[in-house]
Amino acid sequence: MTEYITVTGARENNLRDVSVRIPKRAITAFVGVSGSGKSSLVFDTIAAEAQRQLNETFSAFVRGFLPKLGQPDADLIENLSTAIVVDQKRLGGGSRSTLGTVTDINPLLRLLFSRRSTPHVGPGYAFSFNEQGMCPGCNGIGRRVQLDHTVMFDRSKSLNEGAIRHRDFAVDSWYWHIYAQSGKFDNDKPLRDYTDAEWQLLLWGADEKVELAVTGKKSMKMELEGVEAKFNRIYVNAAEEGASERKKEVVAAYTTSVRCADCGGTRLAEAPRTATVAGVTLPEVCAMDLASLHAWLPTVRDADVAPLVDEAGARIGALVDMGLAYLTLDRETSTLSGGESQRIKMVRHLGSSLVDVMYVFDEPTIGLHPRDVGRMNALLHRLRDKGNTVLVVEHDTDVITQADHVVELGPRAGTAGGTIVYQGDVAGLQHSGTLTGEFLHRPVRAKESPRQPTGTLPLRDATAHNLRGFDVDIPLGVLVALTGVAGSGKSTLVREVLVPQHPDAIVVDQSAVATSVRSTPATWTGVMDAVRKLFAKETGVKPALFSFNSAGACPTCNGLGAVYSDLAYLDGVRSTCGDCGGRRYTEEVLALTVRGKSISDALDMTAADAVEFFTGRDIRPKLQAVVDVGLGYLTLGQPLSTLSGGECQRLKLASRLHEEGNVYVLDEPTTGLHMSDCGHLLTMLDRLVDGGSSVIVVEHNLDVIAHADWVIDLGPDGGDGGGSIVFEGPPAALLSAPGSFTGEHLARHVG
Ligand code: ADP
Ligand code: ADP
Ligand code: ZN
Ligand code: ZN
Repeated sequence: MTEYITVTGARENNLRDVSVRIPKRAITAFVGVSGSGKSSLVFDTIAAEAQRQLNETFSAFVRGFLPKLGQPDADLIENLSTAIVVDQKRLGGGSRSTLGTVTDINPLLRLLFSRRSTPHVGPGYAFSFNEQGMCPGCNGIGRRVQLDHTVMFDRSKSLNEGAIRHRDFAVDSWYWHIYAQSGKFDNDKPLRDYTDAEWQLLLWGADEKVELAVTGKKSMKMELEGVEAKFNRIYVNAAEEGASERKKEVVAAYTTSVRCADCGGTRLAEAPRTATVAGVTLPEVCAMDLASLHAWLPTVRDADVAPLVDEAGARIGALVDMGLAYLTLDRETSTLSGGESQRIKMVRHLGSSLVDVMYVFDEPTIGLHPRDVGRMNALLHRLRDKGNTVLVVEHDTDVITQADHVVELGPRAGTAGGTIVYQGDVAGLQHSGTLTGEFLHRPVRAKESPRQPTGTLPLRDATAHNLRGFDVDIPLGVLVALTGVAGSGKSTLVREVLVPQHPDAIVVDQSAVATSVRSTPATWTGVMDAVRKLFAKETGVKPALFSFNSAGACPTCNGLGAVYSDLAYLDGVRSTCGDCGGRRYTEEVLALTVRGKSISDALDMTAADAVEFFTGRDIRPKLQAVVDVGLGYLTLGQPLSTLSGGECQRLKLASRLHEEGNVYVLDEPTTGLHMSDCGHLLTMLDRLVDGGSSVIVVEHNLDVIAHADWVIDLGPDGGDGGGSIVFEGPPAALLSAPGSFTGEHLARHVG
């Protein structure tokens, strides 16, 4: 008998009294256009309530340390299991965190080396760069932060002219007097004319004292400590742990990071760095890509180390199965993409023996080539078959069609969405008449008459990471798709080759648009001022009355409509302002209306509605651009901090739609987009190109690839198996390109 999670009367964000039944121990896909309410239901209602119920089970003492979670706006949520949310937040962890440490594979390899290496070095922790085995030169970081002389010194100047730029060393400062009064330097000689000995003395000082004449006091003896020595002591060494933000900023501004010369970047002291198993050192093992490592491990397996080798092999195998074969264990987690981070977290959960858990995934196929989606599905099945409930928000048809159950929200976005338009199995979805049902088996069409390029963007000697030193000409004035399996080198080509060789290219990424809680679509597009002016003109008051720092704003929330409780170590919690009930302004201001709408009503309008309402030349075009990039469902007052990465990227694009002649590079612009929204995105990209710009998209989405004028496919595989150009040409020719996984998958989907 199937058990269900039941949600009754859910009303978070745009949800309109939604009730839904979700089968337990099954895979349920949540689908629907962007802004329809998937996240509001899955994350803000179901996962939030599971977390809240879990917190309730702790003692009052423990709860004192947890954020107070408000109850989601719903009548009843029953039969939940403990939720584990696996999202795309990057695996942070600082410079000591690598793929090997976060997956707990490193400890297994260290045990292997402690048992088998020659010469014998010691127990497992003797091989740990976070413990006894750390390189003393860099404390196990592998890199060393060094004073950047070009920033610190203006070598055309003398000491008297202020050759030392950092303000602690400014002319007449305490530190400056140490050098100026030492009698060792010619204070009027430009630093570039220093002898080697003088230069070394300035940098590193000498073991002697300088007699300093100090105004109003007796003279003092100060050690002649060099500029670099002093900077290291005060800033660099102090900034390692727990330093103030300001100190960290100074260090970042005045230093460069260089590979540690002692350990060659391997982080390990000499003994653990050089000991070998079967002729291979531990740093070499950690630098192998996972596919090679997976093949190497069985060759060193013997009775003594079999359990270790088998366990490490199983974990590495799971990562390989997730399409991550190109990664290396020494890769710092901070350099992994959101999609890679999410897949690594998924693998960590596979190893867990928890049952009856509710796993919640957020578009796990982001960054994944269609070739690898099948393996992602297999992992979802394994989690389910262990007795867990799997909820997955997805747009990828290959994931949707293998789900046991589908819940579609819609029919459209924002206020035009927020209802359940379908719940049932995949077979039923296809005949449901819903947007998802309609698009599920729609064939892809390769563009028949691509645009002609207007020029080329030459990339020369592409050699970073795995790129094998090729030249490529990217056609200009057309839509170019840069494709290839994960790890083939697409981002590297953009970040390490294209941008350095053509810094005027505009990379529109998915990073957050704004950090202030005051930023909203209205302030970000700049229409807020015009809206204020309009309200002032039509109601005969001063525009300032409508601003957030005026007497017109609610004094409790200063016009935010919400109050934020900031917790030192947790995400801030946002709750509606109790005084104005989220309406932001005082009663007097709310009584001032334009065509029946108060300023608060205006901020609650979606961009799509506002375009109809505000006809002014200073408002409408800016909002139209927001609608054009597919974000018409955002309200003018929604905090930008609530936007997803894909939404941030589209909002940034909105402000550039009217520029001409640029080269834009977009990283997976279909992230978070329903199949039906992809058409709008393509219309927008076409408009950019037809307006004289060039657009390069890094994409896996077959609709986008098929619609491009030109495709550059990297590969054939990821990591060492990739890094070459497999194909360049129009999409129709890609269909029959030999050795291209992208071509193979495209061919499978064309009708
Ligand atoms: P989906 O996940 O389907 O893309 P969401 O659940 O994120 O959709 O959004 C549904 C609607 O709720 C959208 O109109 C969105 O703008 C709105 N919304 C989402 N989060 C918030 C929030 N924190 N405050 C106000 N509105 C929000
Ligand atoms: P794609 O964008 O096609 O997924 P990437 O350009 O991210 O591929 O990766 C190409 C190769 O370069 C992979 O082997 C990857 O592990 C490696 N790589 C990418 N970024 C870094 C980095 N910051 N440090 C070390 N290796 C990297
Ligand atoms: Zn070192
Ligand atoms: Zn208020």
